[in-house]
Amino acid sequence: MQAFPISMDVPPTHKGALPAACDVVVIGGGVIGVMTAWFLTKAGKRVVLCEKGRIAGEQSGRNWGWIRQQARDADELPIMVESMAIWHGLVAELGDGLGFRQGGVVYMANKPADMAEFEAFMPHARAHGLDTRIMTRAEVGALLGACIWQGGMITPSDARAEPMVAVPLIASALAAKGCVIVEDCAVRGLDMANGRVAGVVTEQGEVACDAVVMAGGAWSSLFLRAQGIDIPQLSVLASVAATEPMPEIFAGNAADNHFAFRRRVDGGYTIAPGSEHDFFIGPDAFRHLPKYIPTLRNDFRSTHFRAAAPNGYPDAWRTPRLWDMSKPSPFEATRVLNPAPNMKTLSDVQDAFAAAYPHLGRPKLRCVWAGMIDTMPDIVPVLDAAPPTSGLSGLFIATGMSGHGFGIGPGVGRVMADMVLGRALGHDLTRFRLSRFTDGSKIKPAPAL
Ligand SMILES: Cc1cc2nc3c(=O)[nH]c(=O)nc-3n(C[C@H](O)[C@H](O)[C@H](O)COP(=O)(O)OP(=O)(O)OC[C@H]3O[C@@H](n4cnc5c(N)ncnc54)[C@H](O)[C@@H]3O)c2cc1C
Repeated sequence: MQAFPISMDVPPTHKGALPAACDVVVIGGGVIGVMTAWFLTKAGKRVVLCEKGRIAGEQSGRNWGWIRQQARDADELPIMVESMAIWHGLVAELGDGLGFRQGGVVYMANKPADMAEFEAFMPHARAHGLDTRIMTRAEVGALLGACIWQGGMITPSDARAEPMVAVPLIASALAAKGCVIVEDCAVRGLDMANGRVAGVVTEQGEVACDAVVMAGGAWSSLFLRAQGIDIPQLSVLASVAATEPMPEIFAGNAADNHFAFRRRVDGGYTIAPGSEHDFFIGPDAFRHLPKYIPTLRNDFRSTHFRAAAPNGYPDAWRTPRLWDMSKPSPFEATRVLNPAPNMKTLSDVQDAFAAAYPHLGRPKLRCVWAGMIDTMPDIVPVLDAAPPTSGLSGLFIATGMSGHGFGIGPGVGRVMADMVLGRALGHDLTRFRLSRFTDGSKIKPAPAL
């Protein structure tokens, strides 16, 4: 079995010397941080991107690679439509190395209620001119070569890319545009002056700046809480496998309630459970439980609750919540969060695949891995500036992408860059405001599709 390719065993690609000052520091070298830095750099800002481990070492290299407009939250959809256009631009600029393919996304219905959920998305698809359509049982059977589903929904213009290579490739192009990217560079905290951000304190020294963008994925809430901002972010473990090369059954991305698969450029499939994940109970789980009750009602049966996160996870019992910025922080202690996958779940996925495609048999696995998905109670992100009352003017937050940040990453990067630049955002971000968890608003979970 191959090891997951992005790890601390691989030497850093970006070892740039940390400058004493810049305009904006971006924390986190996932798709959100890289794409925010991309648009800020294009706007002429001097940007430093600090990554504690490796570019795309966490969620952004470990995801399924789906670039999906289908079944999006209504308020995310306009950003996602823009994101798709940006992906096309990235392909034009960077070429085939991204592994971008427009093969469509298909959702298959296991039961009639699934079809009703698909129907509920159709008005949103029409409002944005998407090519989404409902499929009959026969159409799904003909497209996917298996007649076990009651029907489905397809968006042919949806796409995929190869996460393990796409974000590192974009980061290298970003560095060539002048952004200083530094791997092995954890940001320990913020330097403040007169109630606003004046710089960051990193393990390699301090950098003075006018603005900081926090895009730390599953680590964001730990970092932010130490600065006095509490966000109800938790993480769930999602297990994934890449198969050996197999005959092509469908060239796009497909999922039902039990398993998901998408064609890879290497001729195999990335396969994963349709909705199952593992959840480690840590102190933040207790603190935030009341806010997660609406989501848990939908998600309870697909969640495997596990006693406690191993040391080195953001919400482990022993993870320090406060630290001395002159000493190593929890971010250095876990440079690349590399959780063990749930092999029982992956075995079930192999079985589900083999049941749908008996002529192909149980897929042989080439590589298995897991990622910690950073999630929010309403399954949509926080895209906002720190509130004026926080005394943290100049801090911007883009996190909690809740398991669907890869596809929308370029669009979020554009929005966040314009937020930092004080320009018009082009979309209504009310749903993504930080204050929704404290202003008495009802938690409104995104559709669980
Ligand atoms: C198994 C799995 C499947 C998924 N499938 C899909 C999919 O098909 N389509 C889709 O759209 N999305 C998918 N997602 C979700 C998607 O991968 C994430 O939403 C997205 O990658 C989040 O990007 P990010 O930049 O916010 O976080 P990350 O990619 O996690 O990056 C955050 C980075 O910040 C760094 N960092 C944190 N704290 C610090 C610090 N203090 N100093 C320096 N660096 C720091 C971390 O090391 C990390 O590299 C999936 C996720 C997983 C795990």
